[in-house]
Amino acid sequence: MTFRDLNLSTQLVNALDDLGFETPTPIQEQAFSVVMSGKDVVGIAQTGTGKTYAYMLPILRMLKYSVQQNPRVLVLVPTRELVVQVVDEIEKLTTYINTRITGVYGGTNINTQKQAVSQGLDIIVATPGRLYDLAVSRALQLKSIQKLVIDEVDVMMDLGFRHQLMNIFDILPQQRQNIMFSATMTEEVEQLISEIFIHPNKVSIAKSGT
Ligand code: ADP
Ligand code: MG
Repeated sequence: MTFRDLNLSTQLVNALDDLGFETPTPIQEQAFSVVMSGKDVVGIAQTGTGKTYAYMLPILRMLKYSVQQNPRVLVLVPTRELVVQVVDEIEKLTTYINTRITGVYGGTNINTQKQAVSQGLDIIVATPGRLYDLAVSRALQLKSIQKLVIDEVDVMMDLGFRHQLMNIFDILPQQRQNIMFSATMTEEVEQLISEIFIHPNKVSIAKSGT
């Protein structure tokens, strides 16, 4: 199976070509159609297996060009470093697509970030606390969010973001696709899933050798 078999746009295939990526990793291959179905998805695969593109490829395949102000995709990650990393990965994938991506995180000037989101954007990558602050200050409108990705859910739980995530779920549109990715399925992750998902589709790649 190659990326071409996933029926990606030429622009996405060309960007993957530039990166030297020809074949999807197992989690990318298995998650693609499940995410494309529009149903809620839980993906489990160990670190380094390509989970960022496992959710971003189908999301970018579905995302249509738009000039609207408000973001349609929200990606929540636990740390500032991950915001930077995920933004960078999405930018590489969107070399040939007109997609506006902004990353926001705590510990830096919120006014600069308010300014950045006021320019209009399609995808926002954020840590939970700063995302919430921007939303309640009305600098950021979440009413157009169609896809919510929570990446590294296990780390989110370990860092105590549970309550913060619940607050964010409350201010997101009800009609949305929830996508969660995690390296491990812990009890806390399991519980969060049972609270916000109704019959999620699970995609899980076993560790090699097990
Ligand atoms: P995870 O989130 O599972 O830890 P990442 O999404 O960060 O993994 O990907 C790990 C590394 O693999 C990154 O450097 C990424 O660019 C690279 N990568 C992703 N998809 C592929 C692919 N299909 N082929 C080769 N390398 C890939
Ligand atoms: Mg990851």
